[in-house]
Amino acid sequence: MKSAVALYALLALSSPLAAAEEWGPMELIWQTIQPGEKLKFSFVRDRSFEGSYLGIPVFAARGKTAGPTLCVTAGIHGDEISGVETARRAFFQADPTSMAGSLVVLPTVNASGFRNGDRYLPDRRDLNRYFPGNMTGSVASVIAKAVFEQVIRKCDALVDLHTASFHRTNYPQIRADDSDPKTLELAKNFGGGVIIGGAGPTGSLRRAAVDAGIPTIIYEAGEPMKFQEDAIDQGVRGIVNVMQYLGMIAGTHEQLSESRIFRKSSWVRVPPKQGGFFFPSVAPGDSVRKGDVLGEVIDPFTDERYVISSTLDGEIIGMAVPQVVLSGYGLVHIGIPGKAK
Ligand SMILES: [Zn+2]
Repeated sequence: MKSAVALYALLALSSPLAAAEEWGPMELIWQTIQPGEKLKFSFVRDRSFEGSYLGIPVFAARGKTAGPTLCVTAGIHGDEISGVETARRAFFQADPTSMAGSLVVLPTVNASGFRNGDRYLPDRRDLNRYFPGNMTGSVASVIAKAVFEQVIRKCDALVDLHTASFHRTNYPQIRADDSDPKTLELAKNFGGGVIIGGAGPTGSLRRAAVDAGIPTIIYEAGEPMKFQEDAIDQGVRGIVNVMQYLGMIAGTHEQLSESRIFRKSSWVRVPPKQGGFFFPSVAPGDSVRKGDVLGEVIDPFTDERYVISSTLDGEIIGMAVPQVVLSGYGLVHIGIPGKAK
């Protein structure tokens, strides 16, 4: 009997007519969002000391007609403010009265880190290594579990927004598990920049979400602690592209081709005993050939100059910004298009 009921539910979902008739309010965490409505609220109403870590802002827009739920997360690393602004703009421009489906945005998943300009949680844990989380662990595990169970499991697709980490910048890129066909399609339809193939680290939101059957991509562009207009603009366009791809809004967009998928990459590093001040002469997105000069490292005590050259042909997908560097530090990340692992 139970399986017959489940089958009936499945058949009802697969019929557009039935779905339209059944479309109604969305229950999300403790809030109800009516069709055509847009709301902002706090993840928990608990104002205790511990509960404050889950005082994450939640933005939800419920379309007037049936459709998928697209989720957007940002600020899992609290210092990646370009992603937070991308999420804010994407939600601001969403119009639930002309939209199908639902848009759910968590703009600062690591809300305490965001307020302090800190990548990590107050206990110095990286939230993006604790998904899908558990309720009996550290604050990171509890936040991860609550977000995963109450929001992420309700998403039909997920876009997680990031920038490069400390003292690095990234060319706009989509990170996606290209072995998962639905995730790869989502990545291609986000558009812009390049796709970096791979499953992502254990405990990352995107890996846990893909494991739970939810197509998930990361959009990652620019540096932390900066608002970078080009990175933000391209991110917002990518979210609009995905909404078109999912049939939530009208319009067409270009897809990224296979040639923009990078499955292999390599770092050019500071050679042994050649540390000092790094001054790059290339920029993210530049094409380079083996032997091309990427920049120089100057020893501040001896004035000795070390030329840094590319070790392979490819495109610059990420790099260090000017700074003090030591032997072995990754300077320039070069992606090799079109090649399998
Ligand atoms: Zn990040």
